[in-house]
Amino acid sequence: MLQPDVPNPAGAPQAATPPPLAREHLDRDAVTRTQQGRAEAFDADPNARVLAVHAGRVLLVEPAAGETGPRLELRHPSALPEPEVRCYLGRTLDASADAAGAAVPAGSPVEAWIYDAGAARSIAEEVRWGGLRRVATGLDDRDAGLALEAVALANWHVTHRFCPGCGSPTEVVSSGWARRCLEEDRLRFPRTDPAVIVLVTDDEDRVLLGSNAMWEQDRFSVLAGFVEPGESLEAAVVRELVEETGLAVDRVEYLGSQPWPFPASLMCAFRARVVHGASTVPVPDGEEILELRWFDRDELRDALGRVALPGETSIARWMLEEWYGGPLASSMPWSTS
Ligand SMILES: [Zn+2]
Repeated sequence: MLQPDVPNPAGAPQAATPPPLAREHLDRDAVTRTQQGRAEAFDADPNARVLAVHAGRVLLVEPAAGETGPRLELRHPSALPEPEVRCYLGRTLDASADAAGAAVPAGSPVEAWIYDAGAARSIAEEVRWGGLRRVATGLDDRDAGLALEAVALANWHVTHRFCPGCGSPTEVVSSGWARRCLEEDRLRFPRTDPAVIVLVTDDEDRVLLGSNAMWEQDRFSVLAGFVEPGESLEAAVVRELVEETGLAVDRVEYLGSQPWPFPASLMCAFRARVVHGASTVPVPDGEEILELRWFDRDELRDALGRVALPGETSIARWMLEEWYGGPLASSMPWSTS
């Protein structure tokens, strides 16, 4: 469904732009998922379109001269081989044209078809399959929303071929929105793992950035971690900061969220401040975080030639730019796959 136009709650920080992957322009049409005969009607509908998905990547249109950004290649179902799994994504809200130039009216149904490596090779050459980290920010809102929904669902199907309760095989039901255990007749639904990501500031409005042990040197970002079972988002913010930096924070404010289907996260962004009067000397945990540094805005701008900041697809980059008050273009690449 479309995002309702909710006024900003009093006192909450007002972001100038939404997070880069918090985009959707589609009617998810959930009521249709369980309708009898839906798939057959889809296959017979001349306006039906399919997004092919393989290994977390989506099929892209071959770039034409003068084209500004990537576009999804949506094909009629008759122009694709049978997939492993098909998922109904919803209906388009605006009229458009597909890659072949055929009209796709508003209200056209769209499915994701999920393929293995062999089938993917038969559909298109390697270069036409785009990973979301690389292409998602270049897609328009409709295509970004379709690609995120498709990849997130595909990632779930790959790891749920067997029932987590009894180990028996499962089958796809509800147009790809559930799997049913063949032994227990029990339904399992797609899950999303919440993670908190936190922009920490001190009384001078400096920002705390950390360098993660898994990254190359000179990469710095805001701090993040998964929400633990039985924990609120706000408690996860406070706990993560103590664990990774030794700092006590309070004044936890929600900033926004975006899907991060690598493979199944929802990034929930917060701002938090070091407790007034408490130590601002960070102590890296030495395992996950190797180095922590405070930056004021001038220091961060001056460091852009020496430190790499997270990629423009990430909510971390969005949070940093919201704090900074404008774009932050580092000359050091943060390579992504
Ligand atoms: Zn079972």
